[in-house]
Amino acid sequence: MRIRYSSITMTVLAAATVLTSGLTATAAHAAEPLPESGGTYRISSYAGGALQWDSPNNGAGVRVKDWNENLTEQTWTVTDDGTGNWSIKIPRTNYAVDRDLGNNSVAAWNYISRPNQQWWLKNLSNSRGWLLHNTDRSGGDTCLTRLTDLGTAARPCNAADPAQQWNLDKATAPTPTPNVPVTLQMVNAGGYDPNDLRSWFDRNKGVLQDQYAKIQQFMTGGAYQVKPGINVVYDAGHDSFKNPGVAAVFEPNAKPQYNNEKSIILRPSYVMNNPGDIGSLIHELTHQVQDAANGGWLNEGQADYYRKYVYNLKEKPGLDQIRGTNYNNGYNSTAYMLNYIAHKHPLGESVIQKINNEVRRQGFGADGDRVLTAITGKSGQQWWTDMWNDIQATPTKWTNPAFRD
Ligand SMILES: [Zn+2]
Repeated sequence: MRIRYSSITMTVLAAATVLTSGLTATAAHAAEPLPESGGTYRISSYAGGALQWDSPNNGAGVRVKDWNENLTEQTWTVTDDGTGNWSIKIPRTNYAVDRDLGNNSVAAWNYISRPNQQWWLKNLSNSRGWLLHNTDRSGGDTCLTRLTDLGTAARPCNAADPAQQWNLDKATAPTPTPNVPVTLQMVNAGGYDPNDLRSWFDRNKGVLQDQYAKIQQFMTGGAYQVKPGINVVYDAGHDSFKNPGVAAVFEPNAKPQYNNEKSIILRPSYVMNNPGDIGSLIHELTHQVQDAANGGWLNEGQADYYRKYVYNLKEKPGLDQIRGTNYNNGYNSTAYMLNYIAHKHPLGESVIQKINNEVRRQGFGADGDRVLTAITGKSGQQWWTDMWNDIQATPTKWTNPAFRD
């Protein structure tokens, strides 16, 4: 029932810029059509996050932030000037993404149709991604680039660099927030400013509300009812946090200090140090939907499957993260194997739902191997062995980072 964040911590140390990402490529396909000229798009980076303007003003900064569908600051109006050169403007303004020819920095400036304010779009092969080449070629061919400090700049183009690969997704009208009651309790702020913790929660509660119905549909298909609301608690004193590696936990017992509700408990220090990690919330919310009393390896694997293969594909574990582990390690290892099963089983991805409903039916003490055998005809060990045999036989297929689904 808990997120162990040792692996997350390592990732964050290696690159302090792990961001929530938006819609991503899921499979090879034909060339991506050009955007609709004059349309409003979200522009997300293959290195994580989405392009965001600081303010609707001349000289506004252009940065990369956590993908957030509720932010109009992450929408851009893209317009072809008729020659295949595009402006990328803050909506309802004349301020466009502009390359400074002196130092190659990028910001939003008043648009006067200069080449350094225009970009031509080059679709990457077998990808939804685009390179955004600056139309002004002085100083060489440069492309819009996400910097490691989450700023942006024009840098020499390199089609293999995820920091230069962007998806353009049509921005739809903001969807009304689903009517899911979400409450917050501040039981123990762990020495952090409760206002900071509250504002983090406020920024992310829309994601919880939106995802709750989606997770239910994916995991249960309506086979059983889940509780209508979500209670989130900051409690640095929760027993699970005696283990320093635990970031968040789903508390399956309705305790008086938690409003007598099953609750998602957050460790304040983790939230403050990893404000971009929405995935751990999604993992715990998946546990709430599973409504299981214990966190067996299969539950952990399914919660990570939803988090990393459905909610945010950019968190998918690579082969190197599971090599040398076991099918019943939960988390990355089991999630990776569930993805394999979803590809091999005739039910496809809906096998995940069947597995979840069977775990729920068996209740406390559900045996993961027995469940897998009942639903898929093979135990975890058998699937794991089959998977590694396939990986060895056709490594390119099973190590393709675009592979999910
Ligand atoms: Zn868990």
